[in-house]
Amino acid sequence: MLKVKDVINDQLNKLYELETTDSYTIESVFYRGNTLCVSSQVGCPVECAFCASGMNGLIRNLSFEEIIDQYENSDKENITNITFAGIGEPLLNWDNVKKAFFYFKEKGLKVSFYTTGFPVKNFKELLNLPHNGITLSIHAVNEEKRKKLIPKSADFDKLIETFKQHLDKLSKRKKKSYSIAYLLIKDVNDSNEELKKLAEIAKYLQVGVSLLKFNEIEGINFKTTPDEEYEKAFLFLKNEGVKVTLSNKYRTRKIGGCGTLMINRLKFLNT
Ligand code: SF4
Repeated sequence: MLKVKDVINDQLNKLYELETTDSYTIESVFYRGNTLCVSSQVGCPVECAFCASGMNGLIRNLSFEEIIDQYENSDKENITNITFAGIGEPLLNWDNVKKAFFYFKEKGLKVSFYTTGFPVKNFKELLNLPHNGITLSIHAVNEEKRKKLIPKSADFDKLIETFKQHLDKLSKRKKKSYSIAYLLIKDVNDSNEELKKLAEIAKYLQVGVSLLKFNEIEGINFKTTPDEEYEKAFLFLKNEGVKVTLSNKYRTRKIGGCGTLMINRLKFLNT
């Protein structure tokens, strides 16, 4: 069972710090007035180079009860959507995540996922669930760069092909609930060649791109792309014929923005 340790509000997001019985603190975020972003692991084994959640690797998986407790301990009456986009890679705690998925669906909630797509076997299974949206986080356009940014990841070409094969079976309307995410990091993955390739991948898959903005955080040595360059990248993709969305205001917050969820937060909140 989880215990609510603290609730931190800013104007837009409400971050829940929840304590496990073995004294770890994990986080979930209520945002957009109707959505709860839940965690699936304590720490994360994927150890993405840009993410606070995976800074110290995996501590352990969350149990089914701990996943649903994040919902049970929150503003339940206002929640219509659950997104698995908090701490952890949902596919790497797959049995418990799947069980929680069906629990949430039975409650009439819409459930969506952010995933790196690893392992591919579980990704395939996820694609076939009655989900309400999947965003595949790619963040790089070739295997070499992707491995640097997402150390524990599937073979990039195989992943894209798996996604493509699934998408090809869907109607245009259904495809709209799928997208790829690309976290723009200054001088790391923001060259015109990379953006061009990103546009090619999106057009090949026939999905939109969620162009995310990197949130700077202590201990991570990357820089945020200035607004002007970020908007330029957005226009570049748009001009290439890609449906692209920018990081929304909820995802750029210090509290609960992309890649900022963590265990042992207090030290960081004051920075
Ligand atoms: S971005 Fe997601 S998969 Fe990567 S380390 Fe963070 S929580 Fe894990």
